Parts: sequence; structure tokens; C-alpha cells
Amino acid sequence: MISNIAYPLTYHTYDVLIIGAGGAGLRAAIEAARGGASVGVVSKVPPTRSHTVAAQGGINAALGNVTEDDWRWHAYDTIRGSDWLGDQDAIRYMCKHAPEAIRDLEQMGVPFTRDDQGNIYQRPYGGMSTHYGKGDVAFRACAAADRTGDAMMTGLYDYVKRYPVTFYNEFIVLDLLMRENNQCLGCIAWELDSGALHVFLSLHTIIATGGYGQIFASATSSSTCTGDGNAFALRAGLYVQDMEFVQFHPTGLYGSGVLISEAARAEGGILRNKLGERFMERYAPNYLDLASRDVVTRAMIQEIREGRGCGAEGAYIELDLRAIPAERFATYLPGTQSLAKELLGCDVTRDPLPVIPTAHYTMGGIPADLDGKVLGAQGLYCIGEAACASVHGANRLGCNSLLDLVVFGKRTGAYAAQHGKRASLKHSDLPSYAVEKILARLDGWRYAHGSIDPDWFRTRTQHLTQSYAGIIRDGMSLNEGITTLEDVRTHMHDACGLHHSTMLWNNGLVTALETENLMMQSLATLHAARFRTESRGAHARSDYPARNDDQWLVHTLIACSEEWDFACSTLAVRMDASEGEAPLMPEARHY
Ligand SMILES: Cc1cc2nc3c(=O)[nH]c(=O)nc-3n(C[C@H](O)[C@H](O)[C@H](O)COP(=O)(O)OP(=O)(O)OC[C@H]3O[C@@H](n4cnc5c(N)ncnc54)[C@H](O)[C@@H]3O)c2cc1C
Repeated sequence: MISNIAYPLTYHTYDVLIIGAGGAGLRAAIEAARGGASVGVVSKVPPTRSHTVAAQGGINAALGNVTEDDWRWHAYDTIRGSDWLGDQDAIRYMCKHAPEAIRDLEQMGVPFTRDDQGNIYQRPYGGMSTHYGKGDVAFRACAAADRTGDAMMTGLYDYVKRYPVTFYNEFIVLDLLMRENNQCLGCIAWELDSGALHVFLSLHTIIATGGYGQIFASATSSSTCTGDGNAFALRAGLYVQDMEFVQFHPTGLYGSGVLISEAARAEGGILRNKLGERFMERYAPNYLDLASRDVVTRAMIQEIREGRGCGAEGAYIELDLRAIPAERFATYLPGTQSLAKELLGCDVTRDPLPVIPTAHYTMGGIPADLDGKVLGAQGLYCIGEAACASVHGANRLGCNSLLDLVVFGKRTGAYAAQHGKRASLKHSDLPSYAVEKILARLDGWRYAHGSIDPDWFRTRTQHLTQSYAGIIRDGMSLNEGITTLEDVRTHMHDACGLHHSTMLWNNGLVTALETENLMMQSLATLHAARFRTESRGAHARSDYPARNDDQWLVHTLIACSEEWDFACSTLAVRMDASEGEAPLMPEARHY
């Protein structure tokens, strides 16, 4: 056993260890426990404070409750939405298993909104069609009003309590414990309330730490979405994939960035420029305001750039909800109505809302296969927004993330339990270097004695990423962004300091650790964006405006050395026949 005088370590051993208690982590925990494994879940916030709780619009499944539907049409829409960068086997698996995933949630007690016949209410969502894009819009998003994530998390968290799953809440995982052969043996976490450090040993560790939307100054994601899991993988010498693809949601509230759900447009909301025009008629004549998010976002930016933005400075677009009958808000959009009232003092039945595209979802993440197994590692899995499976490719369709969480959470939880029950791990299996490296990083920030607060570096990173890796990019500004962010990183190492070195609820220390993780994701995003010299999905380059399938129908892999040198390479997109369906070859995307 390793003894460390400065940090007495408390040991725990589980068949399956899950880092993160959002939708993905909870779904995996339920399935792993059902499979008979002992399960520990470590989370930096209580489960129901994870970002999943903020999800609003819904979760897709071809149930056909409103319009006719078929999982194959759902898969087609998802592949097209991904701009053909999604792995087709993973997408088909997800769409085929979506109806079963919804039934599971229903049985676990998730209170979906119902129609008059008692069926689950489904609404249309961006990029969703019938008959392989040739038929009408599909009503595929199963919703609990516009608070679907809250309903889902409450249901999952209530349900998981039936099983002997142990939760360690308000524990910050510092890093993975890795052996030299890339085998993961668990992680080390810092308990905020006692200040103690804990070693979690497991031969099957699942990363479910969510996205890294906080690299942007204006983002809909919670402040906890700092890409910690991605940073664990990079520091372990593993890869992250497709980091250049960040989704900007068309309707963040101008000023605060708070999300107005796509459900508002699904229920009849219309985007208008300062002339009052429904400008989406020009950009997506068939799908209009419900084209996929990358298409709508770019159209809004073009309207603003061409001088048709609203407000004194022409800086935003208006979301007009006045065509929606007032009585529908209470049942289908109560959250949107109350957000507008509370934040802007607006009555959505009378006043249009000022909106602007805001960073929303990170398609990039840790490359994982359908069982969640992480590329290049043993005993390590990844699910949810932290993973790149890749079901969203270059652009995620709305309401496909909650689905991704529960479909792959279930499969990975079951797989890890099946393989984990037989495994046993002793403290002596843990090499001391694995622990020492983690403690050295912790001490580096804990005793940093510069004069600048870590928060300053976090904000600076966010503003720089926003200006250099925003909706439209180009090589020159990406180069400049990389150099500038490198300087900020060096400056942080030289000049950052904490007010005190206590281990009890030391927010400064949490911020320093998270900011380093954020910076890594930010630099990985800029490097990947510079590497990909084409435009595809959410990655739009003004110097390479066209999609280039000959050269770039591949995933981007990023590795990071201990000195923070980033290396880019590529990985083939999986386009073989799967689930009895032939491969779908790239076409032009029209909405
Ligand atoms: C405002 C908003 C609305 C959305 N609406 C929809 C929608 O309607 N439909 C849809 O499909 N998608 C939606 N999305 C996307 C979707 O909600 C997310 O992609 C998804 O919830 C991510 O789930 P997750 O389980 O991967 O991560 P999260 O829910 O973010 O959970 C991450 C977990 O990891 C833990 N964690 C992270 N780092 C550490 C660490 N260092 N140590 C310990 N624990 C750690 C956290 O405590 C947390 O428990 C929305 C997203 C946002 C931001």
C-alpha cells in the first residue's frame, strides 16, 4: 500500500467505478448494479445538480405517436445532421434502441407529458424528417413540457436508489490512476467537505463527466462543464476526438446566453430580422426555423453581418413566439415563459425575445466504441457528452444527446458489470508513480504563490476561445489564438496564486484545477480547428468554405504531451453496413 504523509489516503474498491452522476452516469450505474456489480459513483456536484437537469426540449425516439415514424429515418436524419462524420454503426444502434430506452425511462417513473390518448407527447425538432428526408417533418422528440432533463434526472435518481450503488458527492476527481500499459486502475478524488483524498480502485472505470462548453464566454452549459474527463484522458496519454466541432445553439438570450429551448420554435416560434422578415425562408425553404442548428446559426450570423440584426447596434435576432396560442405555454413551454419573465421582464405572448447563437454542446470527446471502451486504453470507458462514440459527428441534432446518454449508458454499464464482477484488484497493484504524479499536480496549484486569482485565467481563456474559435473561423485567427492561449497558460503557471491552501472547500483550488482542464480543451479545440481545412457541420472556416470529402471524411484525433505539445492525426469514419442497413454515402445537405 502507498502511504503519503502529507495526504493520508482512504481506499475504496468497486467492480465498476463511474466518474460523473449526470444522465449518462446514472443510467450506467443502474445497469451495472442490475448486472450484479458493486458500483461507486463519484461526482463533483450532487447528481441532480449535473448539467443534464437543465435539458429542456426532449429526447428523440421513433415512437410514431404523432406522425408515422421509423428508426431508420431517425438514423438517416442523424447521419445527415452529422454531415456524414458520425459513425454509422453507432448511430443505427442508438436510433434502433431509442424506443426501448424511452420505455425503460417510463418504467423508471420519468413523467413524460401525455397527449389526449395517454401516449407520450412528441414534438418536431430541428433536422427531423420522415421517409429519408423526402417526407414531412417527424414529431420525434418525447418531452416532459420543456423540462425534460429535470424529469429524467429525478426519475433516474429515484430509481437508482433501489440498488446498492454508493454515491460520493462533492468529490473532485483529480486524475485517473494509470499503469504503464495504459490500463486504468481507478482514480483519486478530493472530498471537499473533509478535505481528505480518496483512492478509488476499479478495473472498470467509466468516465461520464459531461462536456466542455465552459471554454466559451457565452455558453448554455453549467459552470461545472469544464471538460475534466477529457483532460484526464489527455494527461493519461490518450486521445480526444473531433474537438473542432462545437455546437452553437441559435437561441441563447442576448446578454446572458441562457438557453431558450428549440422547443419554442418547435411549438411555432419564428426567427425574424430587423425588417421583420422570416429570413430562414431564404436559407432553408423546407425546414425553415427547424433546419439543423449549424444551418440556422450561420443564417443568423449572416443576417447580423449584413446589417439586418435587431436592436440599436443590430447585434441580435428576434424570436417571435406570438403565433403560439397563449394557453399552450402552460403545458408545453412553462420554463420558457417563466425564464423570459424572470430574466427580461418579457411577456412571450406579446414581446419577441432577443436571441444570439451561444455555445451549447461539444461534439468532441474521448473516442469510444459501442461498448464505451476508450481507444488505446484498458479498463476505461467513456459515455455521454464526454465521449465521442461518434453519434453526433460534425453536428448534433437536438434531443439526440439525452438519447445518447441513456442508450450507451445502459450498454456500457451492462458491459462493464459483465466483465467487472470477476475482476479483483489489490492496493498493492497500484504503482506509486501513478499516485505521486497526481499529488504533485495538486500541490503545484495548492501552493501556487503568484498574485493573480485563478478565476482571472478562467475568464481570459473563455474570452479568447470565444473570439478565436467562434462560429466562423479562419487559419490566421486560429494561429493567433493558439499563440495567445499558450501565453496565457505560461502566465498562469508563473503568476497564479491562491488565497489559502486549505483543503476544506477551497474554491480557488477547484478553479485552478478546472481552469487547467479548460485550457487544455480550449487549445485542443483550436489545434483541431486549424488542422481541419474544410467546413463541415458546426465547423465553418471562411478560408475553406466547402466540405471536402476526399480529404476530410475522417475524425480528428488530438494527443497532448506532458509539455503541452498537441499532435493531430486522423481516424476513419465507420461507414460499413450495420443493423441490416447499407452504408449511407455523403450527399449535399439541404433543409
Ligand atoms: C441548457 C441545456 C439544454 C439542453 N437540452 C437538451 C435537450 O432538450 N435534449 C437533449 O438531447 N440534449 C439537451 N442538452 C444536452 C444534454 O443535456 C447534455 O449533453 C447531457 O445532459 C450531458 O450529460 P452527461 O451525463 O454526459 O453530463 P452532465 O450531465 O454534464 O454530468 C457530468 C457529471 O460529471 C461530474 N463531473 C465532472 N467533472 C468531474 C470531476 N472532476 N470529478 C467528479 N465529478 C465530475 C459532474 O458532477 C456531473 O455529475 C442540453 C444542454 C444544455 C446545456
